[in-house]
Amino acid sequence: MAYQQQSIEDHRISSEPFYLPLGEEVSIALAAAARRLPLLLKGPTGCGKTRFMRYLAWRLQRPLVTVSCHDDLSTSDLVGRYLIKGDDTVWLDGPLTRAVRVGGICYLDEIVEARKDTTVVIHPLADDRRELPIEKRGELLTAPDEFLLAVSYNPGYQSVLKDLKPSTRQRFVSLSFDYPDERREALIVSKEAGIESSLALQLVRLGAMSRGLKDSGLPEGASTRLLIQAGLLVQSGIDVQTACLVGIVESLTDDPDLLAALKEMVAAVF
Ligand code: ADP
Repeated sequence: MAYQQQSIEDHRISSEPFYLPLGEEVSIALAAAARRLPLLLKGPTGCGKTRFMRYLAWRLQRPLVTVSCHDDLSTSDLVGRYLIKGDDTVWLDGPLTRAVRVGGICYLDEIVEARKDTTVVIHPLADDRRELPIEKRGELLTAPDEFLLAVSYNPGYQSVLKDLKPSTRQRFVSLSFDYPDERREALIVSKEAGIESSLALQLVRLGAMSRGLKDSGLPEGASTRLLIQAGLLVQSGIDVQTACLVGIVESLTDDPDLLAALKEMVAAVF
């Protein structure tokens, strides 16, 4: 993995990210961080988990190192590896190790996508040992109090193969995320896309309708992210129906019946 060794200062969130709390998640996460307990963020895609982590990092004034997990992610990708540089062999810390060393936050996004043997490396970090073994260097790092481990996963994609092992999940404080209620989601869409609240509300209604198609085979309805995307297109002068089509509908499915149903919804709302 071509992980560029950036300065850890690049991972600091310098200005307050806009985050609209949906419940008690902020105070719970702050309490967990103070108690050095790791966080598990559950919820559908595009519902605010990443934004929440940015906000939390800003509140805690700690650098945030985010890793998007995928099925090829190896332990070395997380922990680090030796690289040949000219005649020398140099050690390059992986993102997890860097976060541990500086007492930052390591956020493993979509953890279930990672290989099972990779996930195991976080076990001693996620319990009260708070240790990261760097086997290749024969080093055992103990995480400073400020280090916070957070992982996310989407239970919607849950399958026997893609579930978190009980031994992994039973180490975390779990925060359940979902799409916000209509009023709050409209506020988010309006603010993020820079559109009128009436238009934001219409987009949110369309989003809610699309989420109702789950029973008809749509794996997931429109996320808050997609609604914002359509709003941004409208803000740039694209006609609202087209914006919904290219920004929401076509991004959700290729199934002709579901496409037809979604298009009808757009026509009904706008
Ligand atoms: P996830 O990590 O759950 O896939 P994101 O955090 O990237 O989703 O959310 C997608 C977008 O939705 C964000 O970039 C942000 O614009 C917006 N968003 C969602 N929830 C909130 C919230 N509670 N407060 C502010 N913005 C939000």
